[in-house]
Amino acid sequence: MATPYESGCDPVSPNRNLAPVSAELDDQGRLMVGGCRLSELAERYGTPLYVLDEQSIRASAQEYREALKRHYPGDSLAVYASKAHSSLALTGLVASEGLGLDAVSAGELLTAFDGGMPPERMVLHGNNKSVEELALAYSHGVMVVADNQHDLDCLAELVPKGGAPVRLMLRFTPGIECHTHEYIRTGHLDSKFGFDPDQLQPVLTALAGCAWARVEGLHAHIGSQIFELDPHRDLAAVMADALKLARELGHPVRDLNVGGGLGIRYVESDDPPSIDAWVKVVAEAVTLACRERGLELPRLMCEPGRSLVASSGVTVYTVGARKVVPGIRTYVSVDGGMSDNPRPITYQSLYTACLADRPLATADETITLAGKHCESGDVLLKDLPFPTCRSGEVLVVLATGAYNLSMSSNYNRIPRPAAVLVHQGEAELIQRREQPEDLLRYDLMPDRLRSLK
Ligand code: PLP
Repeated sequence: MATPYESGCDPVSPNRNLAPVSAELDDQGRLMVGGCRLSELAERYGTPLYVLDEQSIRASAQEYREALKRHYPGDSLAVYASKAHSSLALTGLVASEGLGLDAVSAGELLTAFDGGMPPERMVLHGNNKSVEELALAYSHGVMVVADNQHDLDCLAELVPKGGAPVRLMLRFTPGIECHTHEYIRTGHLDSKFGFDPDQLQPVLTALAGCAWARVEGLHAHIGSQIFELDPHRDLAAVMADALKLARELGHPVRDLNVGGGLGIRYVESDDPPSIDAWVKVVAEAVTLACRERGLELPRLMCEPGRSLVASSGVTVYTVGARKVVPGIRTYVSVDGGMSDNPRPITYQSLYTACLADRPLATADETITLAGKHCESGDVLLKDLPFPTCRSGEVLVVLATGAYNLSMSSNYNRIPRPAAVLVHQGEAELIQRREQPEDLLRYDLMPDRLRSLK
C-alpha cells in the first residue's frame, strides 16, 4: 500500500506530522488510519466523528520518554496535559506509557483516577481552584500546583492539624515573551496564571515554616503552539534561579516543571521542532543552568498536551450544502463546525483537509469550508484549494486530536460527536455520540410556564 506521504500531493502531504503516523491509502486510494478506512468508519459511526490513532499517541509518548532519558542526566517525567483531550481511554494509554497527567478540574481529576493514572504521577493546575478540587487532589496525594495566595489560603485551612502535608509546586510567570496567539500565551508578566516573580521570595519564605505544606516543585509554562526554542532555553535560567532560592530557603525542591508548549504542524508551512529537538534544548539548558549555579539536578518535568495528541486525531465530516457567491466565494458546508472544533473561530487556527476516499485528488477550485452553526464566523478552513466534492462525500480535517473534543460545546444544541480509537484494523468507541434528547437532560420547565400553553 502506498502511504499518502509518498504521493507528494496535497493535502495529505509528504511532510511529516500532518496526518497520523499510521495513515496510508488502501488499494483504491482511500484514506486509512490505524488500519481502518475512514469512509467506512463514517458509515458505521456517523459523522462528525473524532478518530484517534493509538499508534501516533504511543509514538509521541515514547519519543518524550526516550528523549528525556537520552538528553537529561537526572530523573525526568513527562506529564500529559489532559486539557488537550481528557478521556478514560487516553488516560489509560498515556498511563501505560509511563507518563504522568496534569488536570485542571475535578472532572479531569476523576477522569484520570478512573482511567488508571497513579495519583502520585499527577498534578493539579488552575488559577481559581475550588475548595472541593483542592480537597479531591489532597485526599488522593496529587501534587497541587499553587497558582496564587488564594490556593495557599484554602490549603492551609483544608489540611488537618497533624495531617500529611500537601505536596506543592509553585507556579510563577517567568516574564518570557514568545510568538503565539495572545490567548494561549501565559509566560509573560501580564498573565492570570501564577505568582509574579517578585512574589516568589516572600511566598517561599512564608511557606518555609509551615507544617501543612511541602514545597516539592517549581513550575512555569510560557504558552502553547510555540515553534521557537530560545524562549524555552531562557526559561531554564529563570527557573534555575528560582530553584536556588527555594533550596536556600530550606525547601526540599525535587521537581522543575517547564510546562508544555511545543507546537505541531497544522498546515504544510508550519515547521515545528521535533519532540526530540525540543527536549534536547530544554534538557541541556536546565542541566547547564543548574551546573552553573552549583545545584543538584532536579527531576525534570514537562507537560506536553498538543504535541502528544494533536497529530493523532482527525475529524470526519459529511459534505452537505454548497453556495456559490459568483466572483466572491464558494462555501461548502459540513455537518459539524465550531461546536466540535472551536479553534478556527477562537484563535484563527489553520487546518488541512482532504476527501476520505480521494485524498490525493487534484484541487480544481477554491472553497471555504463552513460549519453548520448559525454564526457567519463558523468556518473551518478559508480559501482552500480543493477538489470539487459532492454532497454526501466524506471529508477529513487533519490534526484535530488536541483541543477539539475537549473544547467541544453544544452551541446551537448540536450534540457532541462520537470518538473512536483506531489500532491495527480495529475501531473502538471511546465516547458515545450525544443524542438530541441528551441535551434536554438538565433542562427544567417551571410548571407555571407549562400552563401558559
Ligand atoms: N501546562 C500548562 C500549565 C498549560 O496551561 C498548558 C496549555 O495551555 C499545557 C501544559 C499544555 O500545553 P501544550 O498543549 O501547548 O503542550
